[in-house]
Amino acid sequence: MAGSSVLPALFLAHGSPMLALEGGAWGEAVSTLGHELPALRAILVCSAHWESAGPFLLSSAETPGVMHDFGGFPEVLYTLDYPAPGSPGLAAEAAGLLRAAGLEAALDAQRPLDHGAWVPLRYLAPRAEVPVLQLSLPRPRTPELLLAAGRALAPLREQGVLIVGSGGVVHNLRRLDWSDATGPQPWARDFQAWVDQRLAAGDAAGLADWRKAPGAAESVPTSEHLDPLFVALGAAQVVPEPLFEGWQLGSLSLASYRFA
Ligand code: ZN
Repeated sequence: MAGSSVLPALFLAHGSPMLALEGGAWGEAVSTLGHELPALRAILVCSAHWESAGPFLLSSAETPGVMHDFGGFPEVLYTLDYPAPGSPGLAAEAAGLLRAAGLEAALDAQRPLDHGAWVPLRYLAPRAEVPVLQLSLPRPRTPELLLAAGRALAPLREQGVLIVGSGGVVHNLRRLDWSDATGPQPWARDFQAWVDQRLAAGDAAGLADWRKAPGAAESVPTSEHLDPLFVALGAAQVVPEPLFEGWQLGSLSLASYRFA
């Protein structure tokens, strides 16, 4: 029965939208994890692809549906669906937890699931039966704000709610290397290694100072793909287990983690 144990928090890289069609070893790792998890009450995703001005927003539609929020990909990618229900009640509960921690939060009853949510969930929970809601990345924001949001939402892990950050530690679409499908460019490798060292050291404060890390400017040209990592880390303040390590086109890290 959902709620009988404390669930982990996850950070899942979602790379290129093509992962929805060709998940490869990443898809296998996420699928395997999905089979290992107990029954879930709901999945709360903080995706790189939902930034909102002002407060944190929680999607609260009864039937969210999906967005195909990408361009220039094969037609079949635009036919994919993820018909999970929403959970307006849980969205209100989560907003209440954020407010109780002194954070501004509001509901958005119109927001569909973006591909940062539904691409990994098609592997993690392929039957699309578990309710899904999303948490936005407010603008402006800091890592400290996102860590605080994760801490505020952490009690939901004891109530059958899986908290998932979805993005990418290294994510630079302007520096794709079409000659190398599997390995990182040097600056990408350096930044990924630095993040892994900080995570292994349990150094959330150091991680929040990521702009000083080697390769940061190239690896994180804008912070929205890295930022969901702070929500997951805040929700489960432990040294994570690596779930997957890999790369797409030299500048997209598929590094994914399980916290607790
Ligand atoms: Zn993305």
